[in-house]
Amino acid sequence: MRIIVVGAGVAGLAAAARMGGAANDVVVLERGSAAGGAALSWGGPCTLTLPAVLRDLFVKTGGRKASGGGALEDNVSLVPVDPVRRFVFADGTSLALPNTARGATKDAFDAAFGDGAGAAWLGLLDHGNRAWSAIRPTLVEVPDASRAELWRLYRSGSGRRAIAARRTLRQVGAACGIRDPRMLAVLDEYALGAGSDPRFAPAVLATRPYIEHAFGAWRVVGGVPELARAMYERCVARGVAFRFGAEAASISSGSVTLASGEQLTADVVVAAVDAQVLRRLTGEQPASASKTAATAGYSPSLLSLRLEASADLELPHESVFFGDPGRAATDARLDALFPASASASASASASGTHRVPADPTLRVHAAPEQPRELVVQVDVPCALPDEAAHGYVPTLVELVGQRLGLSPEVTLTLRETITPADRERATGVPGGSVNGPAITSVGSAILRSPTVQPIKGLLHVGASSRPGPGLAFAALSAWNAAEVLRPTRV
Ligand SMILES: Cc1cc2nc3c(=O)[nH]c(=O)nc-3n(C[C@H](O)[C@H](O)[C@H](O)COP(=O)(O)OP(=O)(O)OC[C@H]3O[C@@H](n4cnc5c(N)ncnc54)[C@H](O)[C@@H]3O)c2cc1C
Repeated sequence: MRIIVVGAGVAGLAAAARMGGAANDVVVLERGSAAGGAALSWGGPCTLTLPAVLRDLFVKTGGRKASGGGALEDNVSLVPVDPVRRFVFADGTSLALPNTARGATKDAFDAAFGDGAGAAWLGLLDHGNRAWSAIRPTLVEVPDASRAELWRLYRSGSGRRAIAARRTLRQVGAACGIRDPRMLAVLDEYALGAGSDPRFAPAVLATRPYIEHAFGAWRVVGGVPELARAMYERCVARGVAFRFGAEAASISSGSVTLASGEQLTADVVVAAVDAQVLRRLTGEQPASASKTAATAGYSPSLLSLRLEASADLELPHESVFFGDPGRAATDARLDALFPASASASASASASGTHRVPADPTLRVHAAPEQPRELVVQVDVPCALPDEAAHGYVPTLVELVGQRLGLSPEVTLTLRETITPADRERATGVPGGSVNGPAITSVGSAILRSPTVQPIKGLLHVGASSRPGPGLAFAALSAWNAAEVLRPTRV
């Protein structure tokens, strides 16, 4: 079978590796000059959850023996992180989140927020467990699951309770006893990490803290570009051909036309690009749609700073520094990030102006191999113009120094800035949005853009397709697509 994969991000690489081999003739078309996509555009440390998805990919495409290409751990150095991350609050409280241990997790929450906090968090994880057990076999790992499967789940009492479709993540958290605004900020982080406004995030996103807790959090030594390299090499070993600088201009059934005018044909086209890019390529959405309209309802982007300290720093793998946890300050932060949200100021969204959060949450990543290097991620609105992003940077650098509590003799030097516009240039994702369409419901969290598209022979994989954003889910979407092509299913 001849297969064209459009896009060489993690999802495209995972799909190409799975579909490559003797049976198929696979070519990957990538508009950029290297494989990795978004994973390259944030140049650094990552937190990997559900490593089983990538382990399965490497075993199924090369076997466990080094002679066959080897398992994931033969190709990248994967290290469990403990703590998973440290949450630091404006009042000086901090919470070091342990990796997987239930008892230690309860103790850590009690120590940070007082007795009962640990039990409340475990209650939320249990809800996440029930939701994951309900959706995994019915919606997540079913390649062509649709609304019909979701309705079937709603119709069973246990399914309805597990998904809690009418409730938000915050409401489920409150029912479990999460009321401290600092704990709420921790919960909100899991909604934001999926591209959802925490005020409206559906309860099913409790699966995210559950997955992290149950299956652990890991880092790739050398950062996520190492993972992209290993996946690319696996593809090449499987006979997959790559064409870089090859931008698809349109996709139709069994054919891809490049920007150069060249036309390529195939039995199957796997679009491993953002859902909005796919709609443009298939002609479903007018290319002339204004950027404001096209990006409304899209998840925020990230502003990334690479900083170098003048002295070695001892920092955990990931630290999250929160600003004021009060209701008004939190709403102001979220209004800035989600201009399309109902509660956002009408004038801000109507005029299309972009505001940056005045009191942002900073996510600081560090790796012990490079004790002077920091990568800082800050949520910013999708499509934030470059001018506004660069204007924001000096404030952020100062804030990083303050929140890290650096002594005056330690200085931070800015080495690199990656803006939403840079992300858009690197990946083609409109506005540089990181997680595709903002998640507002169970359907938008899991069903998203379907694997099997209405156009014959067209499959969609990636962070904006099913089952959701992030490295593991992007790779899982490729498993879904490969399942569709299994001879027993066609
Ligand atoms: C700053 C940052 C930090 C993150 N941190 C984490 C983390 O810690 N843990 C985690 O799990 N996830 C993290 N993520 C999310 C994760 O990186 C993404 O979900 C994942 O990499 C998306 O992969 P993808 O293959 O779906 O899309 P992409 O990586 O966007 O790949 C799409 C590819 O398609 C190409 N393309 C686009 N249009 C065309 C076209 N017309 N023709 C040909 N090629 C085209 C693009 O150039 C790109 O290479 C982070 C993301 C960012 C930006």
